[in-house]
Amino acid sequence: MNYPVNESVRIIPGVGEVAQSALERLGITSMKDLLNWFPRAYLDASRPQPIRSLPYGQLAAVHGTVDQVETRRSRSRGVPMLEAVVRDEAGSVMRLRWFNQSFLKQKLKPGTKWIFIGVANRFQGETQMLSPLIEEVPRILSVYGQTKGVTSKMMRGYLDWALRRVDLAESLPPALVERNGLLSKAEAWHGIHQPMKMADVQSARHRLAFEEVFWFFIRMALGREERQQEGGIVISAPLDVLREAVAGLPFELTAGQKRAIWDSVQDMRSGRPMTRLLNGDVGSGKTVVAAVLAAVVAKAGHQSVLLVPTEILAKQHAQSIDALLSRLGCRVAIWTAAQKDGLEGADIIIGTQAVLQEAFSLPRLAFVVIDEQHRFGVRQRQVLRRQSTQAPHILSMTATPIPRTLALALYGDLQVSFLRDKPKDRLPVMTYLVRPGQKAVVHQRIVTEQAAGHQVFIICPLIEEKERKEAGGASAEPALFEILDEVEQGNRERKTVLREVERLRKEHPEYGVIEPIHGKMKAEEKRAVMDRMAKGEVQVLVATSVIEVGVDVPGATVMVIEGAERFGLAQLHQFRGRVGRSSYQSYCFLCPTLMAPAISGRLQVLVDHGSGFEVAEADLALRGPGELGGSIQSGLPDFRMASLTDLSFLQEVKEKAEAALSEHFEFFKNHPEATYSKNTGGLE
Ligand code: ADP
Ligand code: MG
Repeated sequence: MNYPVNESVRIIPGVGEVAQSALERLGITSMKDLLNWFPRAYLDASRPQPIRSLPYGQLAAVHGTVDQVETRRSRSRGVPMLEAVVRDEAGSVMRLRWFNQSFLKQKLKPGTKWIFIGVANRFQGETQMLSPLIEEVPRILSVYGQTKGVTSKMMRGYLDWALRRVDLAESLPPALVERNGLLSKAEAWHGIHQPMKMADVQSARHRLAFEEVFWFFIRMALGREERQQEGGIVISAPLDVLREAVAGLPFELTAGQKRAIWDSVQDMRSGRPMTRLLNGDVGSGKTVVAAVLAAVVAKAGHQSVLLVPTEILAKQHAQSIDALLSRLGCRVAIWTAAQKDGLEGADIIIGTQAVLQEAFSLPRLAFVVIDEQHRFGVRQRQVLRRQSTQAPHILSMTATPIPRTLALALYGDLQVSFLRDKPKDRLPVMTYLVRPGQKAVVHQRIVTEQAAGHQVFIICPLIEEKERKEAGGASAEPALFEILDEVEQGNRERKTVLREVERLRKEHPEYGVIEPIHGKMKAEEKRAVMDRMAKGEVQVLVATSVIEVGVDVPGATVMVIEGAERFGLAQLHQFRGRVGRSSYQSYCFLCPTLMAPAISGRLQVLVDHGSGFEVAEADLALRGPGELGGSIQSGLPDFRMASLTDLSFLQEVKEKAEAALSEHFEFFKNHPEATYSKNTGGLE
């Protein structure tokens, strides 16, 4: 008797309380969640590589015979260490090391043959692997994202059990599967987790990609259907109000801004709730679009909420929106965990998640703006929806622009406004790739810019050990991850914010006031530093990724990004967007801690492209089809199998989904996969 897919993972032999809660952290509670936890990578141990030409820094499998093996204590930490020398068929040797695993000595007898899977590197003139996996038979090994308490190996075990004991029922209409020549769900799950050959992975992916895209469009279509029925609050402010709000701005709106405002005003008068995506580059001026709309809403007698991801941003937006709108008699309030000011009678409430957490009702709420929307979950958006009896109008503002063709393929023309043009007086930020050891150019530029009274941002990747572990912790096999860690710790000095501040103060007193800002500081401390930066009292701000989103310091013209290879392109583009917010020429220096062709190739994209739309396109292309993991771009569905670059595939599945929906409306309407609560990139 097989178990149903919604059975708890708890029944798997070996899944105790610890493993269960670890799985839960990964979002895995049911068998279905487990089966949908796809491998991040595969190790094809059936194809050995010669030791002589192992690619350093990459995973590889070596078939080797043990020459010698011995235990000793590691010099640096005094940990018991097992060391083996192995030889491949060609006679080349490499050295293998394991920490705290002396028991392996039983297994690795001289003369025995094994498959060693690990990341090769060069150490004291020799090829070595740290903590490689040891396999007996050549096969394809699935590597899973993992967490403390559940290793990739355990995951393989659980999945093996589930694949044999769970009823792998078909989830799409069988006719659809057949007509499109897809694998069955059971075949796809087997193929993705336990492929016999790499081609199995391809066809499994195709089926799974088809399915996820199919349900995405079913949800979109059902959501659209539902919105048609739902009543929206009619915002009936006279158009004079709009004219007045726009006329009083300190600058001329760009064509894109005008269009976005106008289209939104139309939406809000239509009697249907608006769900619009404002898709614009950093610095394209999204805030003012939201502000003008909020003013119109206020004049019609309703409230607006602007949700932002951080307290710093809430404060900043409250100030800038107040400056824009107070002359119109609009009352701006702030609502964060630390601060609640002026809520009584407020027209526009600027807040963080705190607004959502307190089950407070805002009876006049009619308009919700979600800034840098990727930081908010769908569930939180639904909470807001429930704040009022009628669905409020929603404007989602992206942090990363989405290429037009893709946005249209996913969402259709009606729901997206593009801000393609930057405010008039902006110069493109000059971007440079700085090789390690060539930092003199950066220093030169800092000095010149400071002489002109401008300020500098320096971004450092991570602040302390713990955060570092979490950031990379889910990346590979535990052993393999430790290796990467060891290598990095030994070879490369990591810059943390505090260390960097200390160093700069000592080595460059001429830089003036140098201050840190990072995630571990209290909200008030962060705010105080940002205030001083905005006022020009701080000359150099050294930050972790906290300043990533939205912060506006027009006087800053230099952005230095240390450890640039650690950030995604979209994120780097965000950082770069922190400068170039005035009419001065600005500069961005990408400083990777190490150079490799893959790294410089990726970073070169930013050097070559100033527009976020182009960066986003290149980013998608670089990630390629079916790349596992990878960060979720804002406003985009987090497809795990489908490639967002394959527009014709998206188009094809969209048509099929819409046809299927009109044919079998009742079937899909009540299908559990069709709940609108996930994976529509926030536009459900
Ligand atoms: P983002 O789209 O990244 O959120 P902001 O809304 O923070 O951009 O705007 C960036 C800066 O550009 C702000 O200082 C804002 O006042 C200014 N700005 C916005 N629109 C215009 C415009 N049409 N002309 C000149 N400056 C503008
Ligand atoms: Mg912004």
